[in-house]
Amino acid sequence: MLHIGCHLSSSRGFAAMGRQALELGADTFQFFTRNPRGSRARELDTADAAALTALLQAHQFAPILAHAPYTLNLCSAEAQTRAFARETMADDLRRMEFLPGQYYNFHPGSHVGQGMEAGIAFIAEALNALLTPDQSTTVLLETMAGKGSEVGGRFEELREILSRVTLREKVGICLDTCHVSDAGYDIAGDLDGVLSEFDRVVGLSHLKAVHLNDSKNPLESHKDRHACIGEGTLGLEALVRVVRHPALQALPFCLETPNELPGYAKEIALLRSLSE
Ligand code: FE
Ligand code: FE
Ligand code: ZN
Repeated sequence: MLHIGCHLSSSRGFAAMGRQALELGADTFQFFTRNPRGSRARELDTADAAALTALLQAHQFAPILAHAPYTLNLCSAEAQTRAFARETMADDLRRMEFLPGQYYNFHPGSHVGQGMEAGIAFIAEALNALLTPDQSTTVLLETMAGKGSEVGGRFEELREILSRVTLREKVGICLDTCHVSDAGYDIAGDLDGVLSEFDRVVGLSHLKAVHLNDSKNPLESHKDRHACIGEGTLGLEALVRVVRHPALQALPFCLETPNELPGYAKEIALLRSLSE
């Protein structure tokens, strides 16, 4: 069975997102841990977190994804910016333990002219400082479009980070269909080829989640502009092949398409009907 959901606003709290997901026909979802651009997190309501955990179990949800603010940069050239990213992620990971066993997804970062190797080294070092043996959260690095000096546009870059992480079982990859296409991987034209390349370079066992998005831009455009399902350069058929692919069957798929809730409900229903 397809596990699918969408990005939801966390403004009404944890359990409210779970109920919202059920109304949309979802059995997973994603939310920002705090304002995507800012730093402040709402006060943690542990009873609300427990209520969501109960709902997820009662309705057999796939793992859900918490998304780090996308302005965090673990490999900034500024020591202060790196430290801020690390502190924010440490705080997020502490909070995530009130939602045990879920995923925490982040953008690896931008090396801003220091070079890919320097960026990779900072990211791996930060992960080694952040991860703890007893955490229940799996931290996911997102595949990126390779915009500017972004780290994570090439599978080799992600593998290099993973290979330097000591607590390997605490990290994984989230593949974003818009981003990989924008990065130059022809997921629409050659899904099998892209997945075998991922398997060869990173290993499919490390792939834990998929962001299912169409793209406003062509292959290798390095842009990162999401389109609604079937309205972009990937197209509906290609995205249906993704949700039906045997190697991806068990993963949570999360829509980050430019939709309001009714649009998400429609895409979820459409993809469920075409996934059988
Ligand atoms: Fe993202
Ligand atoms: Fe994404
Ligand atoms: Zn994106």
